[in-house]
Amino acid sequence: MNYAQIRKYDVANGVGIRATLFVSGCHFNCPGCFNKEYQDFSFGKEFTDEEMQKFIDLGKNPSISGFSFLGGEPLDQLYDDTLLRTVKAIKEQTDKTIWLWTGHIFENLNEKQMEIVKHIDVLVDGPFIEAQKDMRLLFRGSANQRIIDVQKTLKENKIVLWEK
Ligand code: SF4
Repeated sequence: MNYAQIRKYDVANGVGIRATLFVSGCHFNCPGCFNKEYQDFSFGKEFTDEEMQKFIDLGKNPSISGFSFLGGEPLDQLYDDTLLRTVKAIKEQTDKTIWLWTGHIFENLNEKQMEIVKHIDVLVDGPFIEAQKDMRLLFRGSANQRIIDVQKTLKENKIVLWEK
């Protein structure tokens, strides 16, 4: 898996200050895509195991609230198990939250995607739709996207939206 960018102190993507990884590669081609160069799976650098550990160590800083994954498309990273191993290692090594943004719809996720999602706390799902773009929305670009509390959703077997 390649990544395009790491933000050490991200205050825009999720609650609090977060360590954020922007993965490379996305098969959607949303009109108005805000990260067009990130659609290329070979863009950026390889997220090696060493990079993974450095990223996790960033989040161990007490001022960091958690980890965020954006893209690109994190849930298109299915050709290797790097992202799955990363979210598992975060949960093994820290008690921090994981947020992940995807253009996929929660109800349509396949088994491999769910393997990743079941380790995260909050999923912002759905494609970015320019016609529904609203700059006032918190943590999402367009009104169709949902902020889902994953653990409550899995427990209750119905979509439960995240509440502040
Ligand atoms: S899902 Fe995100 S990265 Fe992919 S094309 Fe749409 S806006 Fe761009």
